[in-house]
Amino acid sequence: MNEHPKAIITGASRGIGRAIAEAYAQAGYDLRLTCKNSINALTDLSRELSEKYDISCEAFEADAANASSLEPVFSNLDHLDVLVNNAGISYIGLLTDMSIEDWDRIIRTNLSSCFYISRLAIPLMLRRHSGRIINISSVWGNVGASCEVAYSASKGGVNAFTKALAKELAPSCIQVNAIACGIIDTEMNACFSSEERDALTAEIPTDRFGTPNEVARLALQLSEAPDYLTGQIITLDGGWQ
Ligand code: NAD
Repeated sequence: MNEHPKAIITGASRGIGRAIAEAYAQAGYDLRLTCKNSINALTDLSRELSEKYDISCEAFEADAANASSLEPVFSNLDHLDVLVNNAGISYIGLLTDMSIEDWDRIIRTNLSSCFYISRLAIPLMLRRHSGRIINISSVWGNVGASCEVAYSASKGGVNAFTKALAKELAPSCIQVNAIACGIIDTEMNACFSSEERDALTAEIPTDRFGTPNEVARLALQLSEAPDYLTGQIITLDGGWQ
């Protein structure tokens, strides 16, 4: 029997991470999925994907912002083909109103998490001299957003992390790329009123928000892209920024 390829996807209980999990399940990957406070939803998703696509799919409650809570995700794993660093949170407000605790939480969840989990994943990729790391970033990491300074800094950090790690791992045949998303229609954007949604939509040349499935398709394509594609921040924003 052929062995299934293996992927870890963080923050997979809903939104973009959930869509990426389904795309990889459909492609025949065995999955380990993580979440922070939604293990029931993630366990239901894991059961659904393993039955529907005949794969192994395990759910872990593991805070991406806490290095030691990620270790169980790697137990008894002999190798890893793909890591998708998707877990992330937003914060909207003036920088001067932001507490130090909130700043630290955003940076740890969005940026330090990429370090915490990559340092566990890379040794498993080195065993076969192959692997793909895909970081889910944001256009705000490219251009910055008012009232989202910490979020923009964290995603700008993800972009630099992606480029630097890609150089470090290229000799080992491990590719590292990021997807800089524009506005994707998930619960992360539930804070917008319908007037705000309309105003944002009017700025986007494609005249709509992106969908989680569009991000998922690109994330899967990146796992199948030529080895020569590495260190790239690929913007998926409907032509917005
Ligand atoms: P979402 O809020 O719908 O889902 C976020 C997921 O991450 C959830 O499954 C949540 O449980 C998980 N998560 C949050 N904190 C976590 C933690 N500490 N540990 C583990 N899991 C955690 O958001 P989304 O829109 O699906 O966003 C997914 C990623 O895409 C994030 O990194 C986000 O910054 C990025 N992104 C989203 C948009 C957008 O418009 N939705 C735009 C650009 C980038």
